[in-house]
Amino acid sequence: MNFIMNIPGLKGVIPTRFEDVGGVIRIYAEIERKVQRCPVCQNRTSSVHDYRIQKIHHLKWFERQTQIFYKRRRYACSCGKRFSEKNPIVQRYQRTSIEWNQAILIRAVKGKTFKETGENYGVSATTIVRRFDQLALSEIRPVEDLPSVIAIDEYKGDTREGKYQLIIADAVTRKPIDILPNRYKKTIKHYLQKHGSQVQMVVMDMSQSFKAAVQSALGRPVIIADRFHFCRYIH
Ligand SMILES: [Zn+2]
Repeated sequence: MNFIMNIPGLKGVIPTRFEDVGGVIRIYAEIERKVQRCPVCQNRTSSVHDYRIQKIHHLKWFERQTQIFYKRRRYACSCGKRFSEKNPIVQRYQRTSIEWNQAILIRAVKGKTFKETGENYGVSATTIVRRFDQLALSEIRPVEDLPSVIAIDEYKGDTREGKYQLIIADAVTRKPIDILPNRYKKTIKHYLQKHGSQVQMVVMDMSQSFKAAVQSALGRPVIIADRFHFCRYIH
């Protein structure tokens, strides 16, 4: 008997078997067979060409590493095109689930170090850095004007560009807005001169000289607060 999963990241997924292999949870899964529209000729087809088993790294379940063995269905169209079904688990050419990718982006931004995040998610720090680089570019929209209250945090990332990166966030919603490749004063200066015309308050726990650099980049008086006082202020 199959049931359709209704949990975040695996909505619509049908697990066919669970296994525990040396402490790693394997979820064998497929999705429902449905009529598909051919990406080439737009005709409908429900004729199955074949199946491929795809091993996907997923978020931990119950503190155990978890892999999805996704039986990915390929359909055949009468025009000759063969194509994979659309699925909620994994994007093309990826070996990690969509859910994992999203979690990693959040953790990469909010976690302490890439190394620690890697350990928590069962991959190397290098993998996290790579994901961080790719996702930071794709998920964060280009910024025009920063909001009036921003937070600047440093993050020990050890990427190609430098040991530390700067995360620019909306201090109120705490949403990351941008990531700067390093924490050189000239980088933040250039960035704030370009995007900071609306900024009135900056929340950060950085050195005095860095604070002064931020102040002078904005070219007008702004309130610079440390995180502790800002948190007390908004609560
Ligand atoms: Zn077709």
